[in-house]
Amino acid sequence: MSMPALMPVYPRCGVRPVRGEGVYLYGEDGTRYLDFAAGIAVNALGHGHPGLTKAIADQAATLMHVSNLYGSPQGEHLAQRLVDATFADTVFFTNSGAEAVECAIKTARRYHFANGNPQRHKLITFRNAFHGRTLGAISATDQPKMRDGFEPLLPGFAYTAFNDLDAALALIDDETAGFLVEPIQGEGGLATATPEFLQGLRKACDAHGLMLVLDEVQAGYGRTGKFFAHEHYGITPDIMAVAKGIGGGFPLGACLATAEAAKGMVFGTHGSTYGGNPLAMAAGEAVLDVLLEDGFLDHVAAMGERLRSRLEQMIPNHDHLFTEVRGKGLMLGLKLKTDSRRFVGFLRDEHQLLTVSAGENVVRVLPPLVIDESHIEEFTQKLSAAARVYVPAADD
Ligand code: PMP
Repeated sequence: MSMPALMPVYPRCGVRPVRGEGVYLYGEDGTRYLDFAAGIAVNALGHGHPGLTKAIADQAATLMHVSNLYGSPQGEHLAQRLVDATFADTVFFTNSGAEAVECAIKTARRYHFANGNPQRHKLITFRNAFHGRTLGAISATDQPKMRDGFEPLLPGFAYTAFNDLDAALALIDDETAGFLVEPIQGEGGLATATPEFLQGLRKACDAHGLMLVLDEVQAGYGRTGKFFAHEHYGITPDIMAVAKGIGGGFPLGACLATAEAAKGMVFGTHGSTYGGNPLAMAAGEAVLDVLLEDGFLDHVAAMGERLRSRLEQMIPNHDHLFTEVRGKGLMLGLKLKTDSRRFVGFLRDEHQLLTVSAGENVVRVLPPLVIDESHIEEFTQKLSAAARVYVPAADD
């Protein structure tokens, strides 16, 4: 049986970017693409950002890796900056979003264990959620296409409808550890938590001594125009998983927690060879420098408003194809009346626009956070031109 050298778990696609510059990617043949996918919300600073690339190069030449056994001044510094800027008191660095979610699940379980309630191990999670591809993360995800054939999965998850507070509260029992929820479901098609839902989960956690665990891997780190999406809701989590934008393209994630929530995570309970290594920390510092610059998050919010209103203006002209705009800031979704994977392929191959599909009929628009008005104009003009000539397949 022939099997490609690279395990074929991803589709093959005509575009093979070999170089990036700012908001553009270049294919092998030199074709230029406007990148409104940003590596699925990863390249927050676009491609080839001078501060980020220099920080990585300088750190690589100084010290690329050293074991956490020797402590980590670089990790301590970035963790302190994140603690100063968020609800959290402590940070564990990971190499990916799924690992950040794993650490968040473990932290929630250990909290109840440390309190003498080891039976409180179950997390209530939500339909159409996505938390990553490790066994713990797929156990937290109620999606057969990600779970089939990987059973038996980790026990201790209960699933219910997103944005249905009563249904979520009805699942709380003596074994419940807390809730694991994305403020905005990215892979799930840009469904946005209502204020009543997220605030209601927070209240329930306070009332029952449960952990509110937020997965802000996709929605966090400036993407919605605030540092973290939960800031739109006036609540804070106990534990939060972060990744994607935090490294700007360098594989980096983090699990943030309050001191109370992390009380079980004592010496020897968790670890990672690479987590928080000096090179990753240099990338993280360079991204954070830009994100926390005066006015940067306001820029993201302003660009998000502009892009949203331009997309909304397009709907009446293309109402055979588009139905609504979803999401917040620069985490937007355009809902289609047709299959979004095919339309995303058409935008890429015929109009040199990179976007990402979510669910069956949402086009995710996730540009680098450093875009300006000219990129929004270019995007909406090309999208409009594409929509004018697009012919959905009969079975879409
Ligand atoms: N959580 C969410 C909300 C995500 O969007 C993703 C990635 N799309 C993950 C977790 C997993 O992150 P990673 O692929 O880095 O493991």
